[in-house]
Amino acid sequence: GVPVTVKDLRRTFGSGPENRITAVDGVHLDIAAGESVALTGPSGSGKSTLLHLIGAVERADAGVIRVGDEEITALGRRELARYRGRIGFVFQRFHLLPALTALDNVLAPLLPRRRADTPFDRVERATGLLAAVGLAGREKALPSQLSGGQQQRVAIARALIAGPRLLLADEPTGNLDSATGTRVMDLIERLAAEHGCTLLIATHEEAVAGRCSRVLTLRDGQLVADVRTGRDEPAA
Ligand code: ADP
Ligand code: ADP
Repeated sequence: GVPVTVKDLRRTFGSGPENRITAVDGVHLDIAAGESVALTGPSGSGKSTLLHLIGAVERADAGVIRVGDEEITALGRRELARYRGRIGFVFQRFHLLPALTALDNVLAPLLPRRRADTPFDRVERATGLLAAVGLAGREKALPSQLSGGQQQRVAIARALIAGPRLLLADEPTGNLDSATGTRVMDLIERLAAEHGCTLLIATHEEAVAGRCSRVLTLRDGQLVADVRTGRDEPAA
């Protein structure tokens, strides 16, 4: 995994003093390579926004984000696109492309890029990842033919296809029943360790947070607690 450093990060929405919301308000953070970190806090506390900033889905108004030896907040548009392609992101609502098969959804992040590997290698890797999430034989299924838990497992395979060193997950169990959510967390935890990813998960579920080696709590955009759970950290 890669270390993640955040310095005095700020993100504001809305214009004018009346309706301005500071979603992330001066956050400092140091995550070591290979740590598994939960991001908790009430709804609206800034969890999604912080993940979106670290994943470069949104741009910060101020502050510094460093992932490995790259300063994300200093990158230009093309470098940001490249960076996004090298990290994994799992969403609450899966965000699979409905017209693509499970296999093509897993392959989708690789499409815009020129890579050294041949399409055959990619298909083999995607098929292997689908097997790793328990979906061997379902390569040709469309998202609409899969259950929520299965769709999230496709999304996990997709998040890992590019070999990310950082895996971000935004309420990955939030749309799943608790038994399915537990299985999805098992997979995220195991695969992040196997693939050597630093893991950052936004969640308001204590059962999910308690499985991470560290729990951060946000309130009104500020970090108000940082607790080590004593759980073993995966190898970096
Ligand atoms: P959480 O993930 O903890 O629920 P969010 O990061 O989604 O919190 O939201 C933090 C605050 O920022 C909330 O007040 C939310 O309404 C606001 N917010 C988030 N995204 C936007 C946006 N695109 N436009 C306006 N306000 C936003
Ligand atoms: P998901 O669960 O799929 O991650 P969310 O419902 O958490 O989706 O948020 C969807 C998008 O809406 C996010 O990109 C978030 O930044 C944005 N958002 C959240 N709160 C607000 C808000 N108050 N106004 C506008 N956009 C918002």
